[in-house]
Order: sequence, then structure tokens, then C-alpha cells
Amino acid sequence: MAFPESFIEELIDRNDIADVVSSYVSLSRKGGNLFGLCPFHNEKTPSFSVSPEKQIYHCFGCGVGGGVINFIMNIENLSYPDAVRFLASRAGLTVPEDSADDELPRLRRRMLELNKEAARWFYSNLSGDRGGKAVRYLEKRRILPRTAKNFGLGAAPDEWDGLINAMREKGFERDELVRAGLAVRGKDGRIHDKFFDRLMFPVIDVRGDVLGFSGRALEDGAEPKYLNSPETLVFSKRRILYGINLAKNTKRDNFILVEGNVDVVSLHQAGLDSAVASMGTSLTTEQTRLISRYAKKIVLCYDNDPAGIKATDRALDILKNSEFTVRVLRLPNAIVDGKPVKQDADDFIKKYGGVEFDKLINGSGGSTEYRLMTLQTEYDLAEDEQRVAFLKRAGQLLAALSSPVEREIYAARAAEAAGISAEAMEREVERAVKNRRRNEKKEYEKQAAKPSGAVQPRDRALRYKDVKSALAEEGLIRQIMLDPAMAEYCDLAESDFSSPALWRIFSELVRRCESRQSVSPGAVSTALEAADAELLASLSEKPEEAGGRQAIEQYINVIKTQRLLESTDLAEIAKKMRETKSNGG
Ligand SMILES: [Zn+2]
Repeated sequence: MAFPESFIEELIDRNDIADVVSSYVSLSRKGGNLFGLCPFHNEKTPSFSVSPEKQIYHCFGCGVGGGVINFIMNIENLSYPDAVRFLASRAGLTVPEDSADDELPRLRRRMLELNKEAARWFYSNLSGDRGGKAVRYLEKRRILPRTAKNFGLGAAPDEWDGLINAMREKGFERDELVRAGLAVRGKDGRIHDKFFDRLMFPVIDVRGDVLGFSGRALEDGAEPKYLNSPETLVFSKRRILYGINLAKNTKRDNFILVEGNVDVVSLHQAGLDSAVASMGTSLTTEQTRLISRYAKKIVLCYDNDPAGIKATDRALDILKNSEFTVRVLRLPNAIVDGKPVKQDADDFIKKYGGVEFDKLINGSGGSTEYRLMTLQTEYDLAEDEQRVAFLKRAGQLLAALSSPVEREIYAARAAEAAGISAEAMEREVERAVKNRRRNEKKEYEKQAAKPSGAVQPRDRALRYKDVKSALAEEGLIRQIMLDPAMAEYCDLAESDFSSPALWRIFSELVRRCESRQSVSPGAVSTALEAADAELLASLSEKPEEAGGRQAIEQYINVIKTQRLLESTDLAEIAKKMRETKSNGG
């Protein structure tokens, strides 16, 4: 189906490519572009680039590229119309002439209704016979009834079909319960409640919709500790944070990331109302984007055990090149009977209160400090050999910092920790920095030296038969994108072009200039076939400076000369070449 052009332009405007891509790929900035590991081929060093300015993506490794619609088509494996619908719903746009197809929105609405009714039923259980065990658990964790109400906590009783029966009475079908992840179908075809004998946490989004549930075991030691809704039409773990519905109203300038839902609830109760949890997954870029709407500071407060340390590491990776200021809070061990015992955020709050917790946040270090500290624990610094190994690893870690001042400060700290001179540490960092630069340069040269990648389109069907002419045709296209006013000087016909693909790109570009539409590669590629869009993305990555009419004429000259050379009549060629020279010169 054809969508109105004005609609497609708005769609592209509202779906910034850097935004869209970064929900799939972790990107970091290098100059004007963003780089990351290509999601379309396997690689260890990033050759996948996104240009926010041109609104395109392009991989130097495998050659894929295009605008935001192409990206969604590729990564979500969607047809063009479906990719457009996908992006429209992402940006909250209504697709023109698309209102007939409203089955999906209807199913979503129905599922949200069911979830809300289920949450009400779980909550109502707290004040009845079914909720005794959950209420005792809340008391044990010192969660006040007022707090339980704020979070809509509830009880799933120890029954096989309590929820199913209650929801059937409200008019919901068994299939709907299964689809919403509230019931499970057994081998015998019968269905039973998914959640039983658990404290229920409705997972609510910023709009107040109940997307799913997380149920905590009421018996210590019962597995799993937290049972979450499966992925459904409305529930996607990557995209939601537990507690965001309340945390979004915080007046604090930082968001506190904790491991468990109970931690979130206790922190809110203690006045730390910006706590959220990522429900059993490590932090995702979707989640950081959600947070970025409300705060620019993140405090990581995971448990001080191997799983928590791993989760912290992964979160730091995700946040490495983000706009966030990151702090890592390491909870001190409690001392019980003279022995250190690990404690989580909830334990700490119960013992010392929110004010002390906040002091801990203010005293916590940034990510480099945290990484140095974790690294330190891996080595026995009393031994010479281990100290040398630590020195090396710390050097590599610090070499990745872009600020020399930061490098110096942390080098001094690492030196102190290892009991070596600051000079020795600085030398090690310097060596690591040099190594890093050398490797980056090598990688760049390797990319640039790939002859086929540099000149020929990746798609064999588009292979240039006349490279010299094709490069001029490419140059022309870039000049017009840099300065659309130049289009009027490009009086060329299809027969002038050596590459049909470049002609298709060129003519679309000229058409857009004439109708005063956007000529950004991202916009142009929406009107192109996938292979052409890919070619456009790769050619617009090549360096070019606006050269005005002079550049345009030089390119046209090359193109026309090449066409003449194809002619077999040599005398004719010689004559025409002289003419071209005197005209163009
Ligand atoms: Zn690739």
C-alpha cells in the first residue's frame, strides 16, 4: 500500500534513527557518528555506524544500510507497510487509511482490562481469608498497609483456579487468561492459575496500565523467588521497570536501580521514591531511555554477591557512553556476631533508614572507581606477580577514559592501592593508551583498504560496470544532498548514467529537490528499493565537501566523457572530446 509522502516524512521526523537503532544496538559516539556492533553480522569491533545528521545507518563490515524504515524492515523482519505501521505506533502516529485494521489494538485493550481486574482481585484478597499468609509476609518485611495500597500489592492464594473463576465471573474467557499469561494450560488441556501462594506486584507503566505481574514466593527458599508474567502483547520485560509508575513523579534528581521488587517498595516507603527494578533482567537500553525522560543520574544498587556484581558490570556497559551520570553504591556488610554478613537495600533501609541510605548514595563513587575496586579484589596485591598483573589490567581499564585528567587521578588511586609509585602506573596507562590508538588506527586502515567495499556496491546485481563514471555519479548525488540548490544544474538523462541504481537514486533526489522535500538520505531511501537504499547509505558515508557549481560541472564532465568513450566510433570520440574540453574547461 502507498502511504502519503507527507505522512512518511512526519514518520521519519518523529522516529530519530539514533533513537530507534539504540533500542537494538548499544551505540557510542565517535565524532559526528555513532558506532556499535552490527546486529546483522557477527563482529567483535564495531563497524556499524549511525549518522544522526543524515538519518541513516551503514555497516562497513557487511554493507547493510538505509534509513530508519529500512532498519526496522531488516531487524524486525517486516514488510515495508508493516515497518511503517511499527514506527507509526512507536511515535504515536495514526496511519492514514489504516483504521479498518484494529484487531490488535482491540486485543491489547482487552488484555489490559483483564490485567486490571486481576490486580483488583489480588488486592482484595489481602483483606480476606485468602490473604493471611501474604499479610503476615508484609508485616515481616515491615511494609505498611498504606504502602501496599500505593503499589497495589495483592495475594495469589494457594489455589489452582481462584483467579480463573473470579475472572470467568467477570466475563473473561479461558483463552484470554492464557494469552495474558495469568493462566497456564497443562498437558491434559486443562488450565490452572499461573500464580499461586505468592505476594503479587502488579507491573504498571507510566500511563497507569497494568502490563503484567511479578509474584514473590511467600516461603523462604521457594523457587523461583520472583515469578514474572511471560512476554505478552502488552508485557515486555526489556521495556518496563518495576515502580516506574510512581518513580516518575519523584522530585529527586537520581533514579535508584535495585534488584528486587521488595527493595523498590521499601525504598519508596523510606522516602526514596525514585527506586525502580528491572525484574530479573540486566538493564536494557530501552529501560535507560525510559529513565532518561525523568532523570539524568542513575545510582546502581545491586546486591553485593556474584550475581549482583555481574549485573552491575553489564549495567555499566550499557551506560558507558550514555548521557547519565552513574554512581555505584556498594552496601556495606552488616556485622552479625562479629562476622560480616551481606545485606541488600531492604536490609539496610530497615536498619538505618532512608536518610542514611541517601548519605551512602552521596558518598558512592562513579563507574571507574567501582571498576578499579572490583579489579582490585581479583588480585592479591601483597604478591609481586599479582601486582604486576593488576597494574596491566588497571592500565587497560584507565586507557579507555577519554579525559587525561581522569586518567591521571585514577592512575594515582590505582597506584596507591597496589602500593607502587604513581610514575610506574602512569607509564603503564600511557603504554595502554598508545596500544589502543595503534589498534584503532590499524582497524581503520583495514576498513579503508578493502577495495571491493570501498568502491563497488555490496549487492552484486548493482555492480558498477564503469567505476570511474560511477564514482562521479556518486559524487553528484552527494553534492545535491549537501546543497539541494545544485540540482538545477544537473541536466542529465538516464542514458548518461553508467549505473541504473545510481540513476534511480539521482532522479528521486532531483524530484525531491523540485518539490522541496527533504533530501536527507534517510528520507530519500524511503522511496527506494532495499538494495538501492543500502547503496545510498554506503555512498553517503564517503567524505564529500560542498563544492558548488564547479564540483557539479567537474562530475558531469567525467560522466559525459565516459559515455563518449563507450562509443565505438573513435573519430567521433576524438572530435567530441575536444568539444567537451573547450565547453567544460
Ligand atoms: Zn554488518
